[in-house]
Amino acid sequence: MNTDTHTAPKPLAVITGASSGIGAATARTLSALGHPLLLLARRVVRIEALGLPDTLTRSVDVTDAEAVAGAVREAEALYGPADLIVNNAGVMLLGEVARQPADEWERMFDVNVRGLLHGVRAVLPGMIERGRGTVINVSSVAGRRTYAHHTVYSGSKFAVHGMSESLREEVAGHGVRVVTIAPGAVETELLSHTTDEAVKAEYQAFKDSIEVLAPEDVAAAIGFAYQQPQRVTLRELVLAATAQVA
Ligand code: NDP
Repeated sequence: MNTDTHTAPKPLAVITGASSGIGAATARTLSALGHPLLLLARRVVRIEALGLPDTLTRSVDVTDAEAVAGAVREAEALYGPADLIVNNAGVMLLGEVARQPADEWERMFDVNVRGLLHGVRAVLPGMIERGRGTVINVSSVAGRRTYAHHTVYSGSKFAVHGMSESLREEVAGHGVRVVTIAPGAVETELLSHTTDEAVKAEYQAFKDSIEVLAPEDVAAAIGFAYQQPQRVTLRELVLAATAQVA
């Protein structure tokens, strides 16, 4: 019988948008699994309040490619190569295209699409070189079908689905896994940034009418996907509250 209880240290996991909601819950989950973490978001005080061990926290806007890459380099120098990135940072500004300010469209594509690519690029060359790694992209059920007032948000999440699928084909031969997580409604701060008060109230009423997912539910799905053997890729996980109809 092997009585050696020593286990190898767990590799570095990077999470964007770790200051609230799904990102913060995922940070807790991966930390509990023993991973050192690089946690990124603009509100660094909120990340520090999580009080997680072996964690480097950096105030980074994911639309700044060099800031993302620099933080990853810094964390890798401390904890070794990143084996996982959870590209979770995102914004949802619901509205109608005829009335919505164009800068809201730009922000959604900047953060949800360009920002996600910056995360991918910061870790992917190293993963390819090492012949292993996992990229988990947080999309949405709105990346698979459309909903009222979700036109531009949905467009950004369809982009996440499409790019994730294509990226998976690009890196499959290098041993790198690409996983798309597509949650239905989750109880987080996401809706609070929508500026159209009528649209916000309508979506809030929908959220209040059912028991939506908790951030921890999505974090558990992310942990489950990552913990599969490296030869197994859960290509897409779609999860929603049982009571969510569409
Ligand atoms: P939250 O608003 O609670 O969290 C969003 C996170 O993204 C925050 O940590 C925020 O940090 C970060 N973020 C936003 N903009 C930037 C930026 N420019 N640079 C760096 N970080 C940024 O919402 P959720 O937890 O719900 O959202 C997480 C992901 O889940 C998003 O991609 C969202 O689209 C997706 N999702 C959410 C669903 C839901 O119903 N809640 C359903 C399906 C998908 P900070 O402001 O400190 O920078």
